[in-house]
Amino acid sequence: MNIAFIGLGNMGLPMAINLVKAGHAVTGFDLAKSQADALVAAGGKVAASAVAAAAGAEVVITMLPASRHVEAVYLGSSGLIAAASPKTLLIDCSTIAPEVARKVSSISAEHKVAMIDAPVSGGTAGAQGATLTFMVGGKTEHVNRARPLLEKMGKNIFHAGDSGAGQTVKVCNNMLLGILMIGTAEALRLGMANGMDPKVLSEIMSKSSGRNWALELYNPCPGVMENTPASRNYSGGFGVDLMLKDLGLAVENALGVSASVPLGSLARNLYDIHSKQGSGTLDFSSIFKLIAARS
Ligand code: NAD
Repeated sequence: MNIAFIGLGNMGLPMAINLVKAGHAVTGFDLAKSQADALVAAGGKVAASAVAAAAGAEVVITMLPASRHVEAVYLGSSGLIAAASPKTLLIDCSTIAPEVARKVSSISAEHKVAMIDAPVSGGTAGAQGATLTFMVGGKTEHVNRARPLLEKMGKNIFHAGDSGAGQTVKVCNNMLLGILMIGTAEALRLGMANGMDPKVLSEIMSKSSGRNWALELYNPCPGVMENTPASRNYSGGFGVDLMLKDLGLAVENALGVSASVPLGSLARNLYDIHSKQGSGTLDFSSIFKLIAARS
């Protein structure tokens, strides 16, 4: 299949390479030349613009930073939608506001071009290992068309509902994750302030009603678990600034639909303070440092 891949960053490049490995002809475009060069080294091609990459492609995939980049690449007279043929399937894998996903896909529908939102969970390791979880929003027939390709980049493909539903699930999931990480850090700090060994504390809580993913698999306290960002000075993993972006999407979305997200708002503020103190590029479990106990 001829595939265009726009946005070859930390996530997009390994995803595009997995499609090359699966035998597809992938033409990429990224504003950063070094990223496009890396796709060529892996057997893909590059084009001079997003629209040039999409020319003749049966499927166009985008993996861009945020809502404004997606609007810039898809909309307007020089955007992907205006250039797409009615046979093209557009798949946006970026994490963006659900309302922007709905807006872009409805403009796409006006042009009779199929589009789905398919944000991912699983991080750069999931992108490299083709084990991502895709949360997909759009019409069933379009999701079914995308499924064989998504399966080359991920392990779990969920059809969440209509356009924008993939982004809604992503926003809800990451808001919960941000809150859980802060709660876990707080509980560990409280136990440690009482003289508890964080390993013993974590082991017992992991078999009790406080168990959660952050505690059991991604413990924020250094030394409790090997192979977690906490045990390598919070390097690698999912950055504080990316979590901050996703919590911002949750809070904005909540305002738009009149939902109350008191803990999501508090989590956004705590990650904002943490980022402003210079921790923006650390893994998000480093919020443990912000909840520091008196020594
Ligand atoms: P990134 O910043 O590494 O990559 C984005 C790429 O898009 C960059 O290479 C940039 O040059 C390119 N780009 C920006 N504007 C462009 C344009 N107009 N045309 C072509 N290329 C353009 O970001 P990432 O980590 O790959 O994340 C991409 C998306 O995936 C984000 O929405 C992020 O929230 C989401 N996400 C990231 C992770 C993660 O762990 N990194 C996990 C899940 C979801």
